[in-house]
Amino acid sequence: MTVRFGGITALDDVSFAVPQGHIVGLIGPNGAGKTTLFNCLSRLYSFSQGRIEFEGRSLLDTPAHRIAALGIGRTFQNLALFGTMSVRQNIMVGGHCRTRSGFLANALHLPWVRREEAALAGRAEELLQLLELTRVAETRVMDLPFGTQKRVELGRALASQPKLLLLDEPAGGLNHEEVGGLMALLRQVRERLALTMLLVEHHMNLVMRVSDKVVALDFGKIIADGTPAQVQADPDVIRAYLGEPG
Ligand code: ATP
Repeated sequence: MTVRFGGITALDDVSFAVPQGHIVGLIGPNGAGKTTLFNCLSRLYSFSQGRIEFEGRSLLDTPAHRIAALGIGRTFQNLALFGTMSVRQNIMVGGHCRTRSGFLANALHLPWVRREEAALAGRAEELLQLLELTRVAETRVMDLPFGTQKRVELGRALASQPKLLLLDEPAGGLNHEEVGGLMALLRQVRERLALTMLLVEHHMNLVMRVSDKVVALDFGKIIADGTPAQVQADPDVIRAYLGEPG
């Protein structure tokens, strides 16, 4: 795909595949186009040219509010949580795109609405355990440390039962120990929930250790696409990060 903002080409004929069940890392210096790509995938931006296919189906005609129901979940760099609600409530909100009940059915307390709510609560409980959030389940999100809030953000995205999870800088703002924990957690989540993940991240150690393949962008173009070892050794990637020698 190609995306232009006025005179700027933010993505220039970018093309790559995310194989099912893999963790794909997307790296690149500031302004390379990573956020633009994420926003196109979740349909927050429309793009000038090209296409995105998810499970063989074009996403072009899918509006942003239908993306989660299709099986694409995402987390946000600046967190998309409700600060005054509890951890459990935030995670349950994430699952509502999977329910059928509207305002009227909810108000009437129909039996199938109650069944749906019970299923939602059960799934939230499982996620609380998986993400080690049970102890703080009833705590307001705004009262938790940032590292814990990041895990709640992951839980909110997972509650929509995505097949593809888009992670926008999950390690941003975490300390060394928390990044180690996140690495283990992402692997565990992938195995337990059979997920595919696309990860935008500046933390190189995390990307290289957790990804099956890495795509590197610079000035809106793909400069490398391969295994972490191949991308790390790629002269164009080294140049993009360190600049020209001498
Ligand atoms: P960072 O690592 O700093 O988040 P990035 O790789 O996510 O950077 P993008 O934010 O996608 O990069 O930006 C790519 C290019 O597109 C930059 O030149 C940026 O200034 C430009 N750009 C992004 N969004 C817009 C917009 N809404 N309007 C105009 N230009 C934009």
